[in-house]
Amino acid sequence: MNCPVCKDYKLEQVNLLEGLVAAQCQNCKGVFISSNDYMAWWRTLEDTIPAKEGAIEVDPSWEVPELKLCPNCGHIMARYKVFPDTDFYLDRCRRCNGIWLDAHEWDVLLHHNLHDNLNEFFTRPWQDHLHAEETHNHLDAIYLDKLGEHDYERIKEIREWLRSHPRHGMLLAFLQAEDPYKI
Ligand SMILES: [Zn+2]
Ligand SMILES: [Zn+2]
Repeated sequence: MNCPVCKDYKLEQVNLLEGLVAAQCQNCKGVFISSNDYMAWWRTLEDTIPAKEGAIEVDPSWEVPELKLCPNCGHIMARYKVFPDTDFYLDRCRRCNGIWLDAHEWDVLLHHNLHDNLNEFFTRPWQDHLHAEETHNHLDAIYLDKLGEHDYERIKEIREWLRSHPRHGMLLAFLQAEDPYKI
């Protein structure tokens, strides 16, 4: 297998962890993990490793934005964003399910105890959650910008109070009516 980034460099077998073999490029340090090897290792885990909190730190220079061909089967690899509002993308082959990590990406996952979640990143629930979180953050920033911190905090409190009130329908109608004392 040749490196999908450096092309002429061969990938060499390495042990990423005990029981987890991968193929690494000695030039760019990127790694390819086959789906079978990953699952074989993953099944040996006794419990899921609790993910560590904290911001995912990414150096933009790690990113290799060009499309890559799967070193295993030659299919074009799909890029998946993995964390909201962070330029952390993993490449995955949709034909053989092999995964390519650019240099340092495996280390970031290891550092946050997310290396046992590798298969989850490409699932619908993970991707949907990611998009929902990005939309939330985007709208939050717009409200804050347009309303200002004080009014935004205030309307959020009012909203909470309204929603938890047993007569919230009546409160809403009262608010929205031009004149609540007219029928
Ligand atoms: Zn390389
Ligand atoms: Zn492939």
